[in-house]
Amino acid sequence: MAEKKEKTYELQFIKGIGPKRAEVLARAGINTLHDLLNFFPRKYVDRSKIITLDQLQADQEVTVLGRIEAVGIRHGRRRYFYIVISDGKGLLEALWFNSIDYFKNLFKVGEWVSLSGKVSFYLGFQMVHPDYDRLGEGELDKLLNTGKILAFYSGSEAFKRVGLNSYTFRRIFFNLLHDRLPDVEEYMPQEIQVSRQLLPRAEAYREIHIPQDQRLLEKAIYRFKYEEFFQLQLMLALQRAHQKARPMGFTFNKKSERLEKLYHNLPFEMTEAQKRVVREIRNDMRKPVPMNRLLQGDVGSGKTLVAVMAMLIAVDNGKQAALMAPTEILAEQHYFNIRKMVEPLGVRVILLTGSTTQKERRLIAEETSKGEPLIIIGTHALIYDSTQLPELGLIVIDEQHRFGVLQRARLIEKDVRADVLVMTATPIPRTLALTAYGNLDISVIDEMPPNRQKVTTLWRFDDAAPKIYDFIRKKVDSGEQAYIVYPLVEESEKLDLKAATEAYHRLSATEFKNYKVGLLHGRLKAAEKEAIMSRFARNEIQILISTTVIEVGIDVPNATIMLIEHAERFGLSQLHQLRGRVGRGTGKSYCILKTPFNLGEIAQKRMKIMTETQDGFVIAEKDLELRGWGDFFGTKQSGMPDFKIANPITDGEILQQARQDAFELVKHDPFLRGHQPLLKFLQTHLKKRMNLINIS
Ligand code: ADP
Ligand code: MG
Repeated sequence: MAEKKEKTYELQFIKGIGPKRAEVLARAGINTLHDLLNFFPRKYVDRSKIITLDQLQADQEVTVLGRIEAVGIRHGRRRYFYIVISDGKGLLEALWFNSIDYFKNLFKVGEWVSLSGKVSFYLGFQMVHPDYDRLGEGELDKLLNTGKILAFYSGSEAFKRVGLNSYTFRRIFFNLLHDRLPDVEEYMPQEIQVSRQLLPRAEAYREIHIPQDQRLLEKAIYRFKYEEFFQLQLMLALQRAHQKARPMGFTFNKKSERLEKLYHNLPFEMTEAQKRVVREIRNDMRKPVPMNRLLQGDVGSGKTLVAVMAMLIAVDNGKQAALMAPTEILAEQHYFNIRKMVEPLGVRVILLTGSTTQKERRLIAEETSKGEPLIIIGTHALIYDSTQLPELGLIVIDEQHRFGVLQRARLIEKDVRADVLVMTATPIPRTLALTAYGNLDISVIDEMPPNRQKVTTLWRFDDAAPKIYDFIRKKVDSGEQAYIVYPLVEESEKLDLKAATEAYHRLSATEFKNYKVGLLHGRLKAAEKEAIMSRFARNEIQILISTTVIEVGIDVPNATIMLIEHAERFGLSQLHQLRGRVGRGTGKSYCILKTPFNLGEIAQKRMKIMTETQDGFVIAEKDLELRGWGDFFGTKQSGMPDFKIANPITDGEILQQARQDAFELVKHDPFLRGHQPLLKFLQTHLKKRMNLINIS
């Protein structure tokens, strides 16, 4: 009932909104009371942390309130903008060294502001670049006298034009919520409300917008974070419970003799982690249910071998196996390596990429359609679209750090009988993996092969180039090899070509004129690429200048130096991948990150992290922190959920609770028959996702 009403609620009739503001809100996606209530504050100022200006002390983090008494620009050693505020008990000056024009127009004498930041003392108390918020008229008194916690909302230009700011939002919510609770139904199951001590939904809305005290505010925030995770996890649980009965998969019962042979002939011992993961995969493949497994392992942890073993199981059981790589060059590299491993065992390997001619393609199609056991390797799209693999028993997707969740879902839909193994090189924390891949089983190679070299990572500015070249010459003179990598200027292999090509011509004529220099980029023909790679592998090329096509998979143990030009243009995961190309042999290895002197703050942080750690988990976590959830996963393309208030990085514990509760609930009530309000809520507010689930 209440939910119905929400849907037709017109925000313009809410006190303080009116038709104009309702329209602007609607354009921002806020149409209903439900939407409005879910427009959560971006931060709070707690009065208990506010001090008066006679209590200021240097080096304290505080919030103060005051009236702007003066504004202006001064020319010290640097130009800066300042305001002076007073609360009748003392004075404080706030300074901004950047965006002076912006601040000049923002602050006016006579207005009230709150400032938060660290206090310093220089001829008087100061705050440099404080957080600031402008306060509405009269709010100061209320704030000081009633002990409220103030909510602050994010705004936009459009909001501002119709007078929607934190102050007006606070008034709207005060009118809406202060004397009564909002008309929303409690849909969370009673037992969870009790066990997780959730604030009732209506109360939680009141407390999140007009908090009475810190404790209730925290409870309200907890409730909504929990709710957000719970909804997502419930969807995953329902999806899993109602998956269309997949056709039976294959039972790969026959013991793979080729696997045994490969294992006994390895030039090294497999790590315990590799062995464990092979066992997990073998168990899956034995079952009649199609495997759906994610294999996580840091760069160099030896995922390829595990994949090859899985493919051999399929082959020895009379089926075909396919391996899909994200780029052509990686497909070629895999082809090269895997052929070496399995051809001695009598397994045919076929390569299919963009460079494969129509004629070759027809031959391949003819061959694969015969259904003979074989391994086919290629780029994602190609294998997927253009091959008939009548006896496909296993698909391995080497997706490295690209998270094509939706793409994969489509693939799995289409070819449901085959087992699917997805390999990713970004080791993401377990709770995150659960969110990202709720419906996959997960295997982790959490151990590196022994004797892996630590790669000494240095960060150098461009003016150090002569020294760096000198260093490379010295190393190459002693028989080692080097990569010099140029960044992708844009998401295009065309644009990055120029920088690398120019560098190749320049360096091979000057700095490295006495050395054998090669150039590798994505636009070379497959045969040319392969020729260059194998010449590099044989040390007939000593210095390989390259675009990021070498990012993944390439394996030349004698290469000990990696110079990354314009390292600031790379993301952390990408730098980590690139660095993984060296440190693969016995020689001491170096990764040199070369950047201009002037770097943004985030880029500086990335460089520092790279010099400090080589742990893929730490790097992935930092990457997430720096880039945020949406950017890291590319939420839109990847089909990853977007969170309003919950943060999967910092709220992992709440996520775990919600997941446990959601799966438990669905286990006992897969049709939500005993949870009608919950079912109705999902059908109203998460319609799109619910439609994907086959629950009738
Ligand atoms: P990634 O997990 O990054 O794909 P690869 O599968 O390319 O790593 O393996 C990197 C290198 O390590 C390869 O040369 C491979 O032969 C080697 N390798 C794999 N497993 C082991 C092991 N247990 N001991 C030593 N070397 C190994
Ligand atoms: Mg690999």
